[in-house]
Parts: sequence; C-alpha cells; structure tokens
Amino acid sequence: MHRTLADDLSRLPELLQSARDVAARELADLAERPVAAPGPAPGRAPLPDEGAGGTGALARFAERWAPGFSGSAGPRYLGFVTGGATPASVAGDWLTSAFDQNLSGAGGSWAAELERETVAWLRELFGLGEAHSGAFVTGATASNTVGLAIAREWLGERLGVDVSRAGAAALGPVDVLSGSPHSSVAKALSVLGIGRDRLRRVPLLPGNREAVDVTALETALAELGGRPAIVVANAGTVNTVDFDDLRAIAALKERYDFWLHVDAAFGGFAALCPEYAALVDGLDAADSVCVDLHKWLNVPYDAAVQFTRRRDLQVAVFHNASPYLGPPTGEPDFLHLTPENSRRLRALPAWFSLVAYGRAGHREIVERNVALARRLGEGIDAVPGLRLLAPVRLNVVCFTLAQDPSPERVDALERAVADSGETYVTPTVYGGVPALRAAFSNWRTTETDTRRVLEVLAAASA
Ligand SMILES: *Cc1c(COP(=O)(O)O)cnc(C)c1O
Repeated sequence: MHRTLADDLSRLPELLQSARDVAARELADLAERPVAAPGPAPGRAPLPDEGAGGTGALARFAERWAPGFSGSAGPRYLGFVTGGATPASVAGDWLTSAFDQNLSGAGGSWAAELERETVAWLRELFGLGEAHSGAFVTGATASNTVGLAIAREWLGERLGVDVSRAGAAALGPVDVLSGSPHSSVAKALSVLGIGRDRLRRVPLLPGNREAVDVTALETALAELGGRPAIVVANAGTVNTVDFDDLRAIAALKERYDFWLHVDAAFGGFAALCPEYAALVDGLDAADSVCVDLHKWLNVPYDAAVQFTRRRDLQVAVFHNASPYLGPPTGEPDFLHLTPENSRRLRALPAWFSLVAYGRAGHREIVERNVALARRLGEGIDAVPGLRLLAPVRLNVVCFTLAQDPSPERVDALERAVADSGETYVTPTVYGGVPALRAAFSNWRTTETDTRRVLEVLAAASA
C-alpha cells in the first residue's frame, strides 16, 4: 500500500475528525457568510504526483476552494429553488459515503430495502397510493426523464411497438402537451429521442396564471384524432408556483388516450400541509410523478424520486439483463429501474431527515417558507421601486422594477443584490417582462432573514 494511503488508514479517525471540524465551522458560519461567491476562482494547480495525504488535501481545499463556495445552503440564498440540508440529512449523507453501498442490486446488503422503506414513506408523504412504486434518482431532471421514458414505452404499448427494442423512431412523431413545462422536460425529450420540438404549449388560464387551460388541453387532445399522447402536468411552476388542475386533467383520461406525467418537483410538498394539499389533489391519478428532494425536503444534492404506476414498463426500458429474469410481481433490483447500474445509497440522507423530523418537522419547514414568502411579497408591494408580477401563491416571489424594467436595469438590480452578499435571487422573464424571483425553500430561513432580504431589495431598487 502506498505510504500516504497507509498513513491515512492508520489515522482515519483523526482525518474524519478534521473534516468534521471544517464542516462544523462552515455550518456554524453559514448564515453570515457571503451568499454569492466573491471574485474569480483560483487558477488550476498541477496534478499532484506525490500525494499530500488526507489532511493535506483538507488543508488545500479549505485554503484554495472553500472560501469561494456559495452560501447556497444558507438561509438567505433565494435563487432558483434551492434547499439546504437538515442536520440529520448531512449526517446521513456522510454515512452514505462511509458505508459506500452499491444499490445496483440487493446482493448481500439490506441497503436496497432501506431505499424501499424510504420510498414508501415518501409515497405516503406526498399522498400517493400503493399502486405507485418509486426509485431514487439524482434530481428532478432525471426524474422527469425516467417518467417520460416510461411514457414513451407506454406509447409503444398503445401502438403495438416495442420501443425499448425498436427505438423511438418506431413511434413516429410523438405529441407531448403541456401548459408551463419546466425546461428539463424539453431536455428529457431531447435525451429520449422524442425531440424538443414535439413539446407543444397548450394555452394557459386567463388572468395572470401559469396553469394550463384544461378546456384548451381537451381541444388539443381531441385534435389528435385518437392518437395516444403524453401530457405533462405541472404542480408548481418556477416563476409563480401555479398548479394545473390535476383532477380535471386526470378526468380527461376517460375520453382521451394519454400518459399523465406530473412534474411536482417542489410543488409536491404542498401535500404536507392541510392548508395547501388541495393544490396537488389528483396527484395520485398520475401515471408518473417527479418529486425533487434536494429542494424542499432539504437533503443534500443528488436526490429526487421518480414514482410510477407502471413499473413493468419501467423495467422494459431500464432492465439490464437479457432477458430480464425476475418475476413480474417481485421487487426488481434498482439497476432495472433507472439509468444507472451502480448507484449510491442516495436514500439515506432522506431517511435520516424523515426519521429525525418526521412529517411534522418537514411540514413546519414548508409552512414557514410559505409564510415568509408571503411576508416578503407584502414587503415588496410596499416598496415604491418594486412591483409584484404575480400573487405569492406558495413559496416564490416574482417581482420587478416598478419603472422601466428593461433587461439592463433588472440585470443591474440582480447584480447589486448579489454584490451585497446578503441575499441571492435569480432572473427570469415573466409575461414578457424581465423579472427576479425569490424562492423560499431553506429550513433555516427566519423572519429576520426575510427582513434583511427586503432591506437589500429596497435599497438596491431605490
Ligand atoms: C428544479 C426543477 C426541475 C429540475 O430539477 P433538478 O433537480 O435541478 O434536476 C424540474 N422541474 C421543476 C418544476 C423544478 O422546479
């Protein structure tokens, strides 16, 4: 064994302790560190020939790179839809690496059963019935991709083609209908050989809404003349957190032949709160569902779940045996369910957080984030230089400059906010107007944080 490797093995507890110290310091300072990275990154160092050992690597990381990392896990980072990591989920994430299980199959480990237990808890948390099975994937983009891959296979079933063998071309042009799809849906269609151009935008409800007009959706489906299609319904849009009427869309299945995929990446968390659960009423009727966990569950990155009612079709797409030999009603190994073969135990951080804080703890995060988003919305409404572009429906505040919101001026506002180091919001265009979004999804965010964010926004827009 190489000398530095042998040294590290003999002093492994000390190395882990040192890493723990760096992590503890980082997390202790997180709320007050600059929210966005300062200045340019350092130049690249040469590949080390003789290694520095784990302690040397830790020192170099802390010196060269850590100072320029963002405070995105902290309470005032409101860009995109960015969760932090609950204390228990960080511990779970560490142990994922320490135990280093390979979840491709069940072979010789209980780890796959732990993932199944976690998926079952999440299914319950989001109000899905037992007809849904699920698997962990890396994020909502992967979850949408897997869901739409199953949809593609289903189209084959309807048209009498085995897509997993014959390829997507055997389907001919595929119709994908959606109101306000997330950009990752187009990406998934590109990956799947369906094509980005096959995504057709269905008109939205009038009155500053991002939810699909179900009557227009019905018209679009009727125009297909009985050809089976894919409908992507959106439960929580990124600009204004609008929700499609899932129940009404699902009801259309009685008359039209389509696969219903619901992108509930973060909107699915409405199910945790009695006050908002109606927004995702009908979610269970979906054929496939995407829910992100590294956003509003507040577990570290690399976690989302893909649920579906048609695991048989999922296995048809993703099976990695030829032929697949498992019994159709049994539990297929995870390597037959998602793009990866070898995969880490990415369920463990979520398992830790659910055990540590339970349904009630996670509901409180969602409720507090929504209350704070509304508070910020009210605050922005009272700032003369700013105006809201939509009501604060859940956890995102979409706003712009009251006067002349040109791309240049909104861009300058965004930069001024980021340069303050106090908070971070990300740009968008809503209804043709350049705008900013402040998304609340971090477990640490408090009223004080929200007040500080409002002060920065007010000052920067004055
Ligand atoms: C964030 C998001 C995605 C993509 O999620 P990743 O985890 O970044 O891949 C997809 N859909 C919606 C609605 C989202 O908010």
